[in-house]
Amino acid sequence: MNPVYLDNNATTRVDAEVVAAMLPFFTEQFGNPSSMHAFGADVGGAVKAARKSLQSLIGAEFDHEIVFTSGGTESDNASILSALEANPDRDEIITSSVEHPAILSLCAHLEKTRGIKVHIIPVDAKGRLDRDAYSAALSPKVAIASIMWANNETGTIFPVAELAEEAKAVGALFHTDAVQAVGKVPVDLKSTAIDMLSLSGHKLHGPKGIGALYVKRGVRFRSQIKGGQQERGRRGGTENTPGIVGLGKAAELAALHMEEEQTRVKALRDRLEKGLLQRIPNTFITGDVDNRLPNTCNIACEYIEGEAILLLLNRAGIAASSGSACTSGSLEPSHVLRAMNIPYTAAHGATRFSFSRDNVDEDVDRVLDAMPPIIEQLRQLSPFWQGAGEAPAEFKPVYA
Ligand code: PLP
Repeated sequence: MNPVYLDNNATTRVDAEVVAAMLPFFTEQFGNPSSMHAFGADVGGAVKAARKSLQSLIGAEFDHEIVFTSGGTESDNASILSALEANPDRDEIITSSVEHPAILSLCAHLEKTRGIKVHIIPVDAKGRLDRDAYSAALSPKVAIASIMWANNETGTIFPVAELAEEAKAVGALFHTDAVQAVGKVPVDLKSTAIDMLSLSGHKLHGPKGIGALYVKRGVRFRSQIKGGQQERGRRGGTENTPGIVGLGKAAELAALHMEEEQTRVKALRDRLEKGLLQRIPNTFITGDVDNRLPNTCNIACEYIEGEAILLLLNRAGIAASSGSACTSGSLEPSHVLRAMNIPYTAAHGATRFSFSRDNVDEDVDRVLDAMPPIIEQLRQLSPFWQGAGEAPAEFKPVYA
């Protein structure tokens, strides 16, 4: 049986057209784009074309607003570090409780080592930002507010254009981690007050280890990687030319497939959700079901203990991801589900299925067949679950 890959928010398969576009840049087009001879000029042209593809995908006004980086993590780090360096009279940051560790662990580090005040804005039970707390935290002391475009675990989308306007009113920069949004939902920066945006190649069928940071023209930016004058002095180091060309091709293809993400891919996700909710009792969807990425399903099955869902799905040939921070060696539910106050006994049974244009109807059928007996089997083993459809009263969750 073919494996079913439903972990596209973790990473995507590199599109065959992307691989084909990259290959010459390992062989005959190996030149350094900074070189003055023909080898360099050819490659320089390809880098420029890639920059234009990204400009078009995110609706940037100028191609030089795109700075190539090694991925989402570097872009996130660079945006915050640059904002602090370029605005030394401001020493506060605003972010949310559900950001990726690329933001949250940097903020924790800055708080500890440099005494930067970090306002962590809470979310509600659907993962939506507490707008009042955000507004209250904004002040002329804030160097940058960084709020993600869409959450990687639940797909919940944040009103970043409005949040950016609010930040601008107090003179703070606004950055958004759009690693999960770019390629899945339309992004058009032209008419927004967003100053910086992070994206990553491997989330949109491009290669790993390449990404970009959009820096709006006029925003003071301080390079965080010191070296040569590459990327107009905003990121030192010889460019990853095969990666850049691959990212450019991936951006071009993402634009072509954008409609499919909103229709066919979304329909697959919706059929899976509906089917699972019908087949498995005591199950609910986490996140803001009215406003989320079209490819992401995070489903919590109550009264399951432990991490076994993923292992059993894997045995059935299905790759998904969990709501628990199992990679950290802890069995704690993820910081995102905890921030949403999802009850412990449900957060443990949370599973994320994330689709892409590679998925087909049969993938949904396979999960609909495999998942109900897995949940049934695990509930029989769980101390939280006592018999068919009944949970002990003390474990009955209350949802705000
Ligand atoms: N931000 C978000 C929301 C992500 O989902 C990820 C990757 O999982 C990253 C940042 C990090 O991106 P990269 O893997 O390119 O460093």
